[in-house]
Amino acid sequence: MAQRNTGKLLATQGYVVGIEISGSGSRQSVALADLNGTILRRTRRPLEYVPDAATVLTIIDEMIAEVASPEQLKEGRLLRIGVAIGGLVDAAQGIVRTLHHAHGWDNYPLQDYFEKKFAVPCIIDNNANAAALAEVQYGSGKGERNVLYVGLGRGIGGGLVVNGHIYHGSSCTAGEIGHLFVKEDGPRCSCGKTGHLEAIVSAQAIVRTMIGLSVEHPETEAALRRVTGARAERVTVLQIFQLAAEGDVVALHVVNEIYTYLGIALANIVHLINPGMIILGGSVAQVGAPLLEPLRKRLQELCLPAAFEALHIVQSSLGSEADLMGAVTLALQDM
Ligand SMILES: [Zn+2]
Repeated sequence: MAQRNTGKLLATQGYVVGIEISGSGSRQSVALADLNGTILRRTRRPLEYVPDAATVLTIIDEMIAEVASPEQLKEGRLLRIGVAIGGLVDAAQGIVRTLHHAHGWDNYPLQDYFEKKFAVPCIIDNNANAAALAEVQYGSGKGERNVLYVGLGRGIGGGLVVNGHIYHGSSCTAGEIGHLFVKEDGPRCSCGKTGHLEAIVSAQAIVRTMIGLSVEHPETEAALRRVTGARAERVTVLQIFQLAAEGDVVALHVVNEIYTYLGIALANIVHLINPGMIILGGSVAQVGAPLLEPLRKRLQELCLPAAFEALHIVQSSLGSEADLMGAVTLALQDM
């Protein structure tokens, strides 16, 4: 029956599990996918607190049992596990170096943990690296060889795909663009140093700056209360962009800082690696055109024409799925 040996048939002969662990460890997702990368089942467990590593892994074990029960695996067995995690990862050694927003993860042998537990190969990597690979295979970056993925969420991650492969650097810190230095005497970063991009342009930093500055501007305070239903502390980046569009002076200043410092960081990266595409992902990127258009203009001003003309700046098409799809993509690598 040689004619039945098609890719489609292959896709039913086994499964992979993709696991997403956020930088704070408080948002986990687990997916069961076929060998085409199609997610068949998924589950999420958002927590209201920052758990330690042992708690996260206990929860993930339950989630894997939920999506990959013997009943769900009846057409094939589990072949691999991929993990995308929001911290510093030594992908070659399979070790989590550290998570800046959580505890209990320093030098954690995560690959070993899953391989022993499930007796299948496991591939782990930083979440932005994984998302970059997923965007190149399934999302906005399809067909591109040299791509920078920028994850603008609670923290800032970056993933670099060069010639179709994740570029890790000498000690797996390549692409850690949240820690690019962009502002002399700038605010303190999650890593403990000052003036880093993440301390200015992450969702958390944007909201903190907006709320901090609004205290001295009664009109902005009133506007914040209006858009948040009197819960200013819950203001979102999208709402801040809306206030800027309405002409709120403080929101305009905050939004302008985003263009300025993200622009500096990206222009410097463009001249170093000459990417064909920069993909903006994470919650801040969901703002869409009001973020992308001014940023494009800014990069045009800052970059050599030969570098800018080769560059597309786009929004992630995988959106909030990018990290989970990244984990699945890791599991399917070279399969
Ligand atoms: Zn930093």
